[in-house]
Amino acid sequence: MRVVAGPLAALAALLAAAPAIAADWTTVTTPSPGPVRVIGKTAQGCIGGARALPPQGVGYQTLRPARLRQFGHPDTIRLVEALGRWSAAGGHGTLLIADMGQPRGGPVPSGHASHQSGLDVDIWFRRAAQPLSDAERAQPLAVDMLRPDGKTVDPARFGAVELALVRQAATRPEVERILINPALKQAACARATGDRAWLRRLRPWWGHSAHFHVRISCPAGQAECEPGPAIPPGDGCGTDLAWWFSADAVKAALERFKPREPAPPKILPAACADVLAAP
Ligand SMILES: [Zn+2]
Repeated sequence: MRVVAGPLAALAALLAAAPAIAADWTTVTTPSPGPVRVIGKTAQGCIGGARALPPQGVGYQTLRPARLRQFGHPDTIRLVEALGRWSAAGGHGTLLIADMGQPRGGPVPSGHASHQSGLDVDIWFRRAAQPLSDAERAQPLAVDMLRPDGKTVDPARFGAVELALVRQAATRPEVERILINPALKQAACARATGDRAWLRRLRPWWGHSAHFHVRISCPAGQAECEPGPAIPPGDGCGTDLAWWFSADAVKAALERFKPREPAPPKILPAACADVLAAP
């Protein structure tokens, strides 16, 4: 057979070596065998040997179990279990755990750019006073911490327990950052007392007003894990936060929701091809 050269052939070879099509990663229903292996970045990576978060444990329940997005690194699972125990011990109800990652990580077809390498977990601010039924878990009702204007915090919802929950997560040593709505970060900045170092880990981001997104650092011994950009020094309560309430942020928000061509799939690290192909 004649060898086809040129940019198209090169692209085809790259895609064959490291597929990034979300559908491929979504059809796999089990983790790959072997030791845990965090590969690449949270928004461009995968995980081998992932563990499943049990559907319920002390102080927590998972949501939408049929989506099969409760997989991750054991450290992510231990973090959820620790927060669940904290919630149960304090009488704060059952934590509701939304997406972690797919059985082998990789791009998720909807809802997230990250959650690809087993280090991310979404936790709802709402807790359940009584364990949710299977039907409720399949179609759970989110509670937004903002007023209907979508800009200001509803203090009746984002109260002391919600703040304590975020603080509890942000002070865990393995946690790298927490993505949270800018208005909620602002409320945390205003209400925090004593040590403020944990506020630095709260990173303002679009949405994230019914849940917060916790990302842990690259775990020890995971040489293929690529850390994200460093967080700037300081508690982040000053000028960087102020930007989110500026006219520029309004412009950026409009820009974000403009219809556009979908971005081409990202090329995953080559090692992800092995993870996907494993039995
Ligand atoms: Zn998330």
